[in-house]
Amino acid sequence: MVARVVPVDPFDLVVFGATGDLARRKLIPALYHRLHDGQMPEGARIIAAARRDLDDEGYRDIASRALDEFVEAAALDEKTRDRFLRSIGYVQVDVESDDGWDALAKALPPADGRPRVFYLSVAPRHFGIIAEKVHRAGLSDSDSRIVIEKPLGHDLASAQELNDCFSGHFEERQIYRIDHYLGKETVQNLMALRFANALFEPLWNARHVDHVQITVAEKVGVEGRGAYYDEMGAMRDMAQNHLLQLLCLIAMEPPARLEPDEVRDEKLKVLRALAPLTDPESVVRGQYARTNGSPSYTEDVGHPGSRTESFVALKAEVANWRWSGVPFYLRTGKRLRTRVSEIAVVFKEAPHSIFPPASGRAGNNVLAIRLQPDEGITLGMTIKEPGPGGMRLTSAELDMTFADTLGATKLRMPDAYERLVMDVVRGDQTLFMRGDEVEAAWAWIDPIIALWDERGDRPISYDQGSSGPEDALMLMHRDGRRWREIAV
Ligand code: NAP
Repeated sequence: MVARVVPVDPFDLVVFGATGDLARRKLIPALYHRLHDGQMPEGARIIAAARRDLDDEGYRDIASRALDEFVEAAALDEKTRDRFLRSIGYVQVDVESDDGWDALAKALPPADGRPRVFYLSVAPRHFGIIAEKVHRAGLSDSDSRIVIEKPLGHDLASAQELNDCFSGHFEERQIYRIDHYLGKETVQNLMALRFANALFEPLWNARHVDHVQITVAEKVGVEGRGAYYDEMGAMRDMAQNHLLQLLCLIAMEPPARLEPDEVRDEKLKVLRALAPLTDPESVVRGQYARTNGSPSYTEDVGHPGSRTESFVALKAEVANWRWSGVPFYLRTGKRLRTRVSEIAVVFKEAPHSIFPPASGRAGNNVLAIRLQPDEGITLGMTIKEPGPGGMRLTSAELDMTFADTLGATKLRMPDAYERLVMDVVRGDQTLFMRGDEVEAAWAWIDPIIALWDERGDRPISYDQGSSGPEDALMLMHRDGRRWREIAV
């Protein structure tokens, strides 16, 4: 099977912060791939904007080096590279001053119905000023789109402020808030699995699901982003957005149609159904310790007294008819054993065993949705151990990625940004967070953090390379359950 590519209409994409890490590591490679695969049409223009003094050629050098660094060699060919680089121009703009805006206006010919996208790959403190200046310079029209990414605020009040600063100049339908987890192929496949198959729906509720686990484990530490991370911590940086968005996709009701607002309405209902987390035993905060000579979290961020958590595990409850009594265990952390992101829907055990004790125990069926490193979906089943040795039960995994059927082994998994940027151009907001979702997530998170601040205690230390603090294991052990291994 060949991946079907539908070219988008020609567009103009202005990337503010085009010299930065996100633009070089993710955006430029994503756009290159879309051109390479025939989706970015001839005539699409990328206007790179940043503060430093460069001309078109100077920026093309930066972009070309980004391709060498972040695009796999097999996908790089000189003809496509040339075509891609020729589609990029550079404008020097200092968003904090009035310098460069005239040049940007000149670089942008009349839109003439072409979608115009403003991608804000800059620090959040620049979001408001750019939205205002784009509007004031007359660069946007009712078909323009603006794209931003986390952090979308620091708490509910700042998220509301951010939403307000955009809403003065852009309508909600023009604002694209990226959570790149939602652009992952497997996350979209989860929607197909749930809503295009009748098989799972009857089981997708408190009668049949024992619990849900969502893990986003990182092997890396703060990686040069110490100052930023120390302000945020795992709860704000990961749980408020990625973990809660994944929880929403598992827990939401089927939308009537795959329309952006129908999907987002359902996700919002889940966020609003989250029971307030008032039991301190239901949340564990951790901070990685110095381990085998590798610096501790506080050393990494250069803040000896820091109480910021580099790990959080919690037990959430979606208080509605479908999920009443089903715990959703979430955990995320840095410097853990390995890098893995996974959702596991653990079904209840069979109600009665017909097998003699010597056969062994039937395990719970587990639907595991792996987001990284190897995207895929498996269903854990109990089967008979093959052979003549009598009835012995063993577990086996059914690979639901259907690589052989789809020829997916030969297909490159597109990066989430490739999908998301093309969705912005197409004007499809389904995989983007709406302002009220972001606010609802903060409204649930804020009281948890306020409780920590009130108590003033320190996060629990954990060893680097481990699965996090012991207390996180206890969070599930107390309920007679256990986390899945953090393993590839
Ligand atoms: P970065 O590497 O620090 O890059 C910042 C960019 O902003 C540079 O291109 C810089 O241009 C430009 N800039 C700074 N001040 C400016 C000004 N006054 N006028 C015009 N341009 C200015 O940051 P980043 O890591 O790419 O992150 C960008 C945004 O994405 C942030 O909001 C970040 O939180 C978010 N984000 C990043 C990642 C990631 O993986 N990096 C992941 C998720 C979210 P000069 O080089 O010319 O100074």
